Amino acid sequence: ASPAETSGHLEPVLARALPRVVGADAPVPLRDGRTVGYANFDYAASAPCLEAVQDAVARALPYYSSVHRGAGYASQVTTAAYEAARETVRTFLGAGERDSVVFTRNTTDAMNLLARSVPQGTTVVVFETEHHATLLPWRRAVRLTAPATPAEAVAAAERALADAPAGPRLLVVTAASNVTGELWPIAELAGAARRHGARIAVDAAQLVPHRPLDMARLGLDYVAFSGHKLYAPFGAGVLAGRADWLRAADPYLKGGGASAAVTADGTRWQVDPQARHEAGTPNVLGAIALAAACEALAAAGWDALAAHEERLLTRLRAGIARIPGVRELTLWGGRGPRVGIVSFVVDGWNARDVALTLSEEHGIGVRDGKFCAHPFVRHLLAEGGAGCADAQGSAVRASLGLGSTEEHVDRLLAALARLAA
Ligand code: PLP
Repeated sequence: ASPAETSGHLEPVLARALPRVVGADAPVPLRDGRTVGYANFDYAASAPCLEAVQDAVARALPYYSSVHRGAGYASQVTTAAYEAARETVRTFLGAGERDSVVFTRNTTDAMNLLARSVPQGTTVVVFETEHHATLLPWRRAVRLTAPATPAEAVAAAERALADAPAGPRLLVVTAASNVTGELWPIAELAGAARRHGARIAVDAAQLVPHRPLDMARLGLDYVAFSGHKLYAPFGAGVLAGRADWLRAADPYLKGGGASAAVTADGTRWQVDPQARHEAGTPNVLGAIALAAACEALAAAGWDALAAHEERLLTRLRAGIARIPGVRELTLWGGRGPRVGIVSFVVDGWNARDVALTLSEEHGIGVRDGKFCAHPFVRHLLAEGGAGCADAQGSAVRASLGLGSTEEHVDRLLAALARLAA
């Protein structure tokens, strides 16, 4: 038998090897009184926890105690687990020994920490296609319009960096779009940054749940991501990267942990960014959970994760392309590398009504709106041609993850076909 013929036999085994999410197919009531298993297509907003994450939190809870300053046994255990979580994240990201790994609340928090840490006079270059978390924190930024191709993205970044006045420069870019799922050429962009003496910061919120990232190999200076998109609970995120700017910046929050000594003469702040920017009692369980998710994904193997997603994404996109009146939004034609995120519009429907109908009549959870990327969604809808936008300028987003199944995809396609008919 050819590999194509045998792959069907392997699927159940491969599927069993994937990390399992908590609450996959949880029952949800429909408007007509029936109950169906929830078809979650909202992984790009927040992914459900992995069972491995739930287990890690359950193991940590008996030793629930504050970190760093306690001599008690539980405090020592918790401190060790928290610092081990930091090292797990370092390995997960391929960050160097000298890089800092600062726990934050989420990607937004991480980008704001970086924005407050760039030296005075830094020229920040950012594409308007970014999520607001990565678009908005900068005091003064050169905003580049949506590039027509990945190569144009590199050329546009080069031009903007070449035109920047003398002084520090920072290029900020997403690794995977939260609207179209398309991957940005971050290795090439890192090369462009280096050629112009700039640093590069990457928003990896939508990449790390799907693909490996190696900061050292790619030459990335900073990476930010959120635990809740990586199959861990809300409230923990990461900024990893070069320590010098972070060391020199004002503490992100002022308080205990960030202060080394407080005397009548004033406060001496910690220098190590991991202490300096983590004032207050940290989200220890969040960090432990986030690290457990990193470990579970890496252990499952990225090829298996990508194969699962690719199979479902191909089915979903091919199905959408066959439904007249449903149009996918892409920046680069959707032919390049991408993660399992698909945004679309349904002719004659506004996005909110599509989302509500899918939920109430089919038990399908999608997202509607502008996905915290208003300029980008406006651009995509304008490119889609007249009649593409609903009155609110919104679209619908379906995103895939580890609990997604063929049945979910087929249910979504059948529901969309009914809507569009
Ligand atoms: N960046 C991207 C690409 C995202 O998709 C998101 C969340 O939707 C964020 C940043 C912000 O993440 P958070 O809300 O966890 O800060």
